[in-house]
Amino acid sequence: MRELADEAVVLRTWPEGEADRTATLFTRTAGRVRVLAKGARKPTSRLGAALEPLAVVRVDLVQGRGERYIVRHVARVEHLATLRASYERIAAGFAIVEAVDATPADHLADEARFALLVRVLRALDDSALRPDLVPAAFYARLLALDGLALVLDACVNCGRVEPLVAFDAATGGALCPECRRGRPLSAPALALLRRITGGDLANVLREEDPPGSAEARALLGGAIEEHLGRRLRTLADPPGAPR
Ligand SMILES: [Zn+2]
Repeated sequence: MRELADEAVVLRTWPEGEADRTATLFTRTAGRVRVLAKGARKPTSRLGAALEPLAVVRVDLVQGRGERYIVRHVARVEHLATLRASYERIAAGFAIVEAVDATPADHLADEARFALLVRVLRALDDSALRPDLVPAAFYARLLALDGLALVLDACVNCGRVEPLVAFDAATGGALCPECRRGRPLSAPALALLRRITGGDLANVLREEDPPGSAEARALLGGAIEEHLGRRLRTLADPPGAPR
């Protein structure tokens, strides 16, 4: 019987049967795995208390039938109290874990992805950093991890440096007027995308609504959906969005 003791981020949970809970976890050494926590919905369950979406945990798992693991023990390793106290930060966290949960394959070890995931959850837990652009920045990093870093310093098609007036995720970045396709790209959004992907993210996240924010969010959201080949529910209908 295979056992796995590992760190993990809880991506998603849902009820099963009378008292159990199923969850997907992204583990440090085994990638995404599906687990069953028996009795986790009983009020006295110690498994249930720690097994919540966005939690960073240490788990002891044992392989059950098929590909699913049974949870033997789970403990929080990060408290993330600031994240958990803010609806906006939680919504941003859900937009992040949904993209990770949409990764096609289970059991693909990816420590870089795990480390990135924990780092962005910590950023969401930092009261000095605004959460609005954190998911968009995460999507740009995820693309880069998958070898598809966006080209923003020159036209991705012909290499012309300026002007750059369009953005196309399928082509891989910004485009000049001759090569334009995809969506229009404003100068402020281009400048912001360059800051987000070029090492100035910590400063960007300290600014209140930098110019081009809404556009950059939409472009990077579209880019990750293009890459994953599916729509993300948290982008189409963010929890708490006015109806
Ligand atoms: Zn061009």
